[in-house]
Amino acid sequence: MPNSKTRIVIIGGGAAGLGLARKLARNKDHIVTLVDRNRTHFWKPLLHEVAAGALDPNLEEVGYGGHAARWGYRFYQGELDRIDRTAQTITTRPLLDDEGEVILDAQTLDYDYLVLAFGGVSNDFGTPGVREHALFLEHRAQADEFRKKLLNECLRVNDRRQRGETDATVDIAIVGGGATGVELSAELEQSARALRSYGLTNFDADALRLHLIEAGPRLLPALDEKLVQKVSDELTDLGVQLHTGTRVTEVLKDGVDTADDGFIPASMVLWAAGVRGEPDVPSLSDLELSNLDKFVTEPTLQSVTDPKIFAIGDCAHCVLPGEQRPVPPRAQSAHQMADHVARAITALESGKPAPQFEYKDHGSLVSLSHFATVGSLMGNLVGGRLAIEGRVARLAYQSLYRMHILQVHGPFRGTVQIITSFFSRAFKPRLKLH
Ligand SMILES: Cc1cc2nc3c(=O)[nH]c(=O)nc-3n(C[C@H](O)[C@H](O)[C@H](O)COP(=O)(O)OP(=O)(O)OC[C@H]3O[C@@H](n4cnc5c(N)ncnc54)[C@H](O)[C@@H]3O)c2cc1C
Repeated sequence: MPNSKTRIVIIGGGAAGLGLARKLARNKDHIVTLVDRNRTHFWKPLLHEVAAGALDPNLEEVGYGGHAARWGYRFYQGELDRIDRTAQTITTRPLLDDEGEVILDAQTLDYDYLVLAFGGVSNDFGTPGVREHALFLEHRAQADEFRKKLLNECLRVNDRRQRGETDATVDIAIVGGGATGVELSAELEQSARALRSYGLTNFDADALRLHLIEAGPRLLPALDEKLVQKVSDELTDLGVQLHTGTRVTEVLKDGVDTADDGFIPASMVLWAAGVRGEPDVPSLSDLELSNLDKFVTEPTLQSVTDPKIFAIGDCAHCVLPGEQRPVPPRAQSAHQMADHVARAITALESGKPAPQFEYKDHGSLVSLSHFATVGSLMGNLVGGRLAIEGRVARLAYQSLYRMHILQVHGPFRGTVQIITSFFSRAFKPRLKLH
């Protein structure tokens, strides 16, 4: 007997995919399968806090298995290997343990609709040495690695200072003056200030030397010039050395070479310069890709090559009618695209055409740790674009993550989770140093 239920496979349980799985699974005529290479979900915009030791990631992680059982979809751990559009199947790679032994063989899953939501990676622009020497903030393991290296460096420098080398410093270069680079810089300054009270008694304010390097003429291109000036002043006051209009030409073991400012020494280099598709994307399918290896979609978010396949979030390249640039790779875009695809699949199931996606830019906010939050809100409610800062900006900034929690856990569980997380954070030590 033919299966009358609609089989929907979602690849990637991130900002876009996880909430979508919950939403689609509410319809009992759907069989939803979420595939992710990891067992747990962690919301990316919090990674800079994990990297700086300001947040214990275990408090905010969501296990896919438990989430799937609660909301009635299937979870399969695996990494996408191939999309067969003719057979309407996807195949995953064998799942290996840390020793390279097979845990699960390759798996083939049938779909009626496929949603690609597997994000992207940092764009290295082909710069030599980036993959060999730089650190990244693309997932939790990398944020953990950064934090461990950071702590080791701080302990080393504290010890050197104790032995009389009073000018010893931890030198860090952050490449990319977007939200990730800016927020991480402020978070690291905040953590460095707290280290003294965690037993690193020689780690004075000048022990951390932070270089924030941006190839463009200014930081944060999405923000108004006035707000950017505020952010730049705040970072400079904190002691961050800003290098705008400075292109990194090579990353070396002990620092970065630049076209404009010469060699900048650094024992840690973090690369956070834009988003592109994963390197293996071209080998996954014959779907049309942009020059950054993202899936090119119609304004409905369906692939231009195949209407049964949607692409959302950072892996999608969607230029809406009347726009010059694609929808930006941001958490708010990912959420809106997920909501749209849930509606589009329902429309297609009832024989209607998929509606066009409308992106609503709600503004951009940047948090400078506990020092400041600035940004702008957009929309009819605030009468166009409204620059905000201080407590209001902080609340608006936090609301983005709260919306994600509500989308992932539903209104009741989501609210409980927000309250629990608030108290857990309040009673935990300020820094996670392990
Ligand atoms: C440090 C940092 C700070 C940020 N701050 C902000 C912010 O303040 N505001 C904002 O709007 N945006 C911010 N962003 C951007 C935002 O996080 C992304 O735009 C958003 O997470 C994209 O959602 P996504 O679902 O497309 O991808 P992701 O959230 O990256 O999820 C992708 C998922 O796919 C899985 N996956 C990847 N490849 C495969 C594969 N081959 N097979 C199976 N599964 C796979 C991954 O494990 C992951 O779970 C920030 C990003 C970073 C890194």
